[in-house]
Order: sequence, then C-alpha cells, then structure tokens
Amino acid sequence: MPYRNVFTHLECSATGERYETGRPHNLSEAGKPLLARYDFEAVRDELDRDAIWARTGGFWKWRELLPVKQDEDVVALGEVDTPLIDCPQTMAQYGGRGRLITKDEGRLPTGSFKARGLALAVAMAKSYGITKMAMPTNGNAGAALSAYATRAGIESWCFAPDDTPEVNIREIALQGGKVFRVNGYIHQCGALVGAGKDKIGWFDVSTLKEPYRIEGKKTMGLELAAQLGWRLPDAIFYPTGGGTGLIGMWKAFDEMERLGWIGSERPKMFAVQAEGCAPIVKAFEAGAEHAEEWIDAETAAMGIRVPKAIGDFLILRAVRESSGAAIAVSEEQIEQARAVCGRADGLLLCPEGAATLAACGKALDEGLIDRDAEAVLFNCGSGLKYAMPDFSRTLDRHAEIDWASLE
Ligand SMILES: *Cc1c(COP(=O)(O)O)cnc(C)c1O
Repeated sequence: MPYRNVFTHLECSATGERYETGRPHNLSEAGKPLLARYDFEAVRDELDRDAIWARTGGFWKWRELLPVKQDEDVVALGEVDTPLIDCPQTMAQYGGRGRLITKDEGRLPTGSFKARGLALAVAMAKSYGITKMAMPTNGNAGAALSAYATRAGIESWCFAPDDTPEVNIREIALQGGKVFRVNGYIHQCGALVGAGKDKIGWFDVSTLKEPYRIEGKKTMGLELAAQLGWRLPDAIFYPTGGGTGLIGMWKAFDEMERLGWIGSERPKMFAVQAEGCAPIVKAFEAGAEHAEEWIDAETAAMGIRVPKAIGDFLILRAVRESSGAAIAVSEEQIEQARAVCGRADGLLLCPEGAATLAACGKALDEGLIDRDAEAVLFNCGSGLKYAMPDFSRTLDRHAEIDWASLE
C-alpha cells in the first residue's frame, strides 16, 4: 500500500531554524534537538484515523505521521500495540476512586519502549545509507539499537555504565551489538560516543541527539488516544530520563489536533524521577528553564538514572504547559509500588514503571490530581529484566508439613 508521506523538514527546538531532510542530522547549529515537521494540513481531509488504527504492524501502522518514506527502509521485529491494563485494586490502595490504567510497554520487541524510538532511528539511518551507529545506554536503549541495527544490516556499538544489569549487557551482545562497560554515568558514556565519531565513523544515536527517536516515541501518544476512543486521560505519569517519550507524546497530541483527530484538551503531564537522580524535579521546583547536572546519581530504576538531559527545557515546557508537575519518589516508594501492583492486580512493573505509580499516589495525596481522575502510568519496560525482591519460603518435603503455615 502506498503511504502518503508529508515529512517536510526539521526545525531547531530552540531557534526554529529550518533544516533539510536529505541528509542525516544530529543537533542543530545551536546545539539543541531537532524536531521533525510535516505538512499535515495537506492530508487532513484524506487521513482516516480509524482506518489507520485498524491496521496491523504496531507502531509502524502510523506511516503517514512518520518520517520513513520508503517501505524497504522499515525494520520490523513483530511490533504490537501495547495493552492498556486497568489496575483497580492498586488504585484503591493508593486512595483513588477513578481509573488507573497502565500502558505496558514491556510487550514490545526487546522488552521496552526503546524499541519505538530505535526502530525509527535505524530505519532513517538505513534510508541515508549509514552503516555504523553508536550510543551510550543504561541498558534498554542499547538492546533496542542492537536488535534493530542488526536487522537492518548496520553495525552497532553500545557504551554502558559498568553497573548496568547483566541481562541488558548480554542481550545487546547476543543481538549482534558490540557492548562496552564503562566506569562512568550515561552522559560520560555519551562523551565517548562523541569522541569516537571521527575515529570510527559511526552515527551518534544518543537520546535527542538525532531527530527520529522522538518520532518513534510519539506513537505512544497516538496509540493511547486511539485506545481511549480518540480522547486523552486526565493525567499521564511518565518515568523521565532523557524525556524522549514525554516530549514525543506532547508533540503527538499537537499533531493529532492539527489533523482534526482530537480537540485541544490535554492531560496533565507528570515527569517522574527518583529522589537519587531528580534534575528535572529540581529545575521544575526552582522555576528554571534548564536543569543542572545531578551529581552522584543513584537509583535502581536505571532507565531514569540520567543526570543531565539535553531536552530538559522541552520536558519542563510540556510539564508546565499541561499544568502537570515533576515529582520525585524514593527507592522505598518504588519498591513498595512494585509490590502493591504485582500483588494487588497481578501486573509486574519495572522499577521505572513502579516509580510512576508511587508518583501517582503522591499526586493524589497532594491534590495535584482529583481522587476520581483517570490516570495513565507508563510501564516502559518488562519487569522481568530487573532484580526482584525475594518473597519465597523453603519447604522440606521429607519433614512433616504444617499445612496451616502455608496459608
Ligand atoms: C529509557 C527508559 C526510561 C526513560 O525514558 P526517556 O524517554 O528517555 O525519558 C524509562 N523507563 C525505562 C524502562 C527506560 O528504559
């Protein structure tokens, strides 16, 4: 099926300066992220949102809203629409009377929503004839890059902090990527990628340093609206590291409005971080436009252990425009939230997803959202990729069993 492609140009997110699409780009001249722009007005009357939603192919179904022009550049590994899972018992335990929904992104290829962004980045790289790609990663992004790059016949390099979970490191290597443990944080791994660019000739796919990962992540916003019957919830809680997903969804809402798919209503956007690494929360509370680097970052929620985000001003802007907030939660609150959701509603969250639940509880307590609000949490990765607390007990089958003690 021929898809109408209306990707016209890229725009500097800070200055609005225009860039052409015919070659690969990293940051703008001003050193800021570039955003993809489209001529949606030209297709407003011919794009049928329900016909598009009825297609298969997961996030690839939104082709008219994505930059990839040619079918042969699409790189697929069995993408699905991720389910919305109601968590009523959990909501009750946190004192809410409304609807608590988890969008479970762990069902995507490579077990996290990083698949959305990297599939798009790899597809665009393929269209430009790029043969080498590199990035710093806390684990999930590298897993997605290695899988999609291998699939596209592209070589990949990943640089991860040396305490990145073993499962991610091994997954990257098994999917064909070259992976290095580095004695530093993710932004220090990022500096290595920058330094090696001229030496090895790879393309830098660091978060927001190329324009297309956002385009992949924005499909979360498209999918969510479609799943709710072309409306948006009262609040979205998003585990925020580099912020690509939050920025991407905010962009998706505007694009859907331009297409006439939704109205001007918007959810309150909550950027959720861990108390041990909360640069965006600190900047939000200080009323600042940019966030300072967080020193000595520490949290088990590796996906949000990002001391410095290049798109800080875009995250803060979306949060403020939406009348949302940036919220930090403790490691104990994250662990507790993980246990509550698993034990009350049978849904295993990753620590980052659990952080969004803890933040939702805080927002309810502090009146930032109504008790009867409809809130959506993003569980951005599979809970199975992370260490879990041990609640098991042992049983000696040779001894006499006290059955009452099993209840
Ligand atoms: C990368 C990641 C995040 C943070 O996503 P950003 O869009 O970069 O802020 C959150 N959770 C998990 C599981 C991740 O892998």
